[in-house]
Amino acid sequence: MVVRKVRSPALSRLRRALLLACGGAVAVPAASAAAAAQVGVELKLGTLPALPPGLLRQQAVVAVSNPYGAEAGAQVLEKGGNAIDAAVAVAYALNVVEPQSAGIGGGGFMMIHHAASGKTFYIDSREKAPAGATPAMFTKLSNPSLQGVAVGVPGMVRGTALALERWGNLPLHQVLKPAIKLADKGFNATPRYADPSVACNARAQNSPEAAAFFCPGGKPPAVGQLITNKPLAGTLRLIAAHGPDCFYLYLPAKGCDIARGIVEGQKFKRAPQLPGETEGRGGSMTYADLAGYRAALRAPVEARYRGYTVKAMSPPSSGGLTLLQVLEMLERFPLGDPAQGYGWGGVKTANLMADALRVAFADRAVWMGDADFVSVPGRGLLAPQYTALRGAALLPGVRLAPNPESGDPRPYQWSGIKPVRPLAVAAPIDGPGETTTHFAVADRWGNFVSYTNTIESSHGIGVFAGYRKPDGSFRNHGFLLNNELTDFNLAPTTNPWTQGAGYNDVEPGKRPRSSMTPTMIFRADGTPLLAFGSPGGSTIISSVLNVTLNLIDHGMTLQQAIDARRLAVTGVGPTVQLEAGHPAAAGLAALGYTVNPADIGSVQAVGIDPRTGRYYGGADKRREGTVIVLPRGKPLLPALGDLLAP
Ligand code: GLU
Repeated sequence: MVVRKVRSPALSRLRRALLLACGGAVAVPAASAAAAAQVGVELKLGTLPALPPGLLRQQAVVAVSNPYGAEAGAQVLEKGGNAIDAAVAVAYALNVVEPQSAGIGGGGFMMIHHAASGKTFYIDSREKAPAGATPAMFTKLSNPSLQGVAVGVPGMVRGTALALERWGNLPLHQVLKPAIKLADKGFNATPRYADPSVACNARAQNSPEAAAFFCPGGKPPAVGQLITNKPLAGTLRLIAAHGPDCFYLYLPAKGCDIARGIVEGQKFKRAPQLPGETEGRGGSMTYADLAGYRAALRAPVEARYRGYTVKAMSPPSSGGLTLLQVLEMLERFPLGDPAQGYGWGGVKTANLMADALRVAFADRAVWMGDADFVSVPGRGLLAPQYTALRGAALLPGVRLAPNPESGDPRPYQWSGIKPVRPLAVAAPIDGPGETTTHFAVADRWGNFVSYTNTIESSHGIGVFAGYRKPDGSFRNHGFLLNNELTDFNLAPTTNPWTQGAGYNDVEPGKRPRSSMTPTMIFRADGTPLLAFGSPGGSTIISSVLNVTLNLIDHGMTLQQAIDARRLAVTGVGPTVQLEAGHPAAAGLAALGYTVNPADIGSVQAVGIDPRTGRYYGGADKRREGTVIVLPRGKPLLPALGDLLAP
């Protein structure tokens, strides 16, 4: 086994990168004085039997939305891998066992708390628009999310390679072994994999190759059926043998033809469906777009909430800024106190959560986008004076009306901004997505990873990377192409304050605005407590908010906080999504909200109890959430064997 130590030059490179990230348009806000003065309540993680002190140092935990993915991470940890190695192994394994959600055809945000340096940062492997992308490329097109025009330059392979190279213990070819084995030898279809609404949905059947793989003969596989993906095993072997360049560069002499599969695959277009529509639209990605892809290092945005430090994803995600704005607006209310009519599920609590989200979503629509391209006023958005102003209209027992509009946070960040009246322009609409995956890992060295990874909608554009060979056969690379670019505004918009182009309009090389919110909670002294996140498109922000409040305000254990029925809001209107049985449904309807039933998110979390040093995990029953705490008694999937063996 090759074990590499993190070297100090890597750390100073990281420090430089983080300084650059902080010095850009988004900056970490100062904690509010009022919030800092509050004493943190004790988080209750749950109960686990006591471990003999000697074993404490061998602990690790992995929480994944799929049992095979969890097993891959656990086995890497057992073989001396750290949380970064395990997270990369999980990401690749999920491409095999949860291919509809995420994989090498897409991208994500990997949040790392690196124990040796005490730093918390992100590897941003979000997809980018190709050089040929234009703001109007989705207009006059039916179903752009099912066409090649939606495919962004994938980031996962470069992002995970960077993670391993700088912060991992194990080499890429070893970390890829579990995924290669699962793809080659197969796994037993889980209930979710075999669910007809997943395996045979319209997106899964958008191309003949995808339909034949996911829903052969129009039928989903039976639960337990052995599923192999030999083309994907071959693709992963190429990456293992030649490294990430074999994915990003077309090098036929080495057998590296994955780039050709991506470039050809994203030319996919559907037959016209709209009146006046002459043809579908493929993507414009070139070999140069692929060769030029780089992952970015980003600093988190952070704020204090009731004595804890919450760190979450900065732009190009809207997740961290929106979540932290909401927490800052809510902190003045005693949300955890049933005696004052609040508490979990209380109408006042739900009413305030909904309206704080509505206010934050008004700002999100205008001010959040890829900060490498637009000046996101991150410090202004989280300035205590600004959030106090924005939250001033929140009143328990009253629905906020009319719908909130965006504010102007710029004067709270930069001097010399003259007050302007905003133009009235329609806010772009975006709805919740269908898939994506979140997982979390902690290792015995105290490293934490919180990783949300995606190909955007279920099955991305429903097309495998691959190309037609001269003999007419299809060279299939076995992984799905993302539709991430439909996270951009689908038509050109205007920023009502700057009167320039909308912050989330398409630009070449830009990353689409995300809602993904991999998050960590720290004690006031900076020690990490919890790492978590969720899929769910723009409902992600609400899922993370629900779990944060459940833990800090409502005193739930980690698993209770994940299990509790959720509330989500994804826009400025008075529409609230509630999971079945949420006790505030009738009360919210009586206040004039439209209450829509929904299943919301899939949260995976790992945590440490600072008093005992015990590691905890929580996973979501809404999918196939699985926690493995190490050292473990018996293997979770005994038939699986050693995934890292040659
Ligand atoms: N593409 C979405 C985002 O980045 C995630 C999709 C989902 O979670 O379903 O916000």
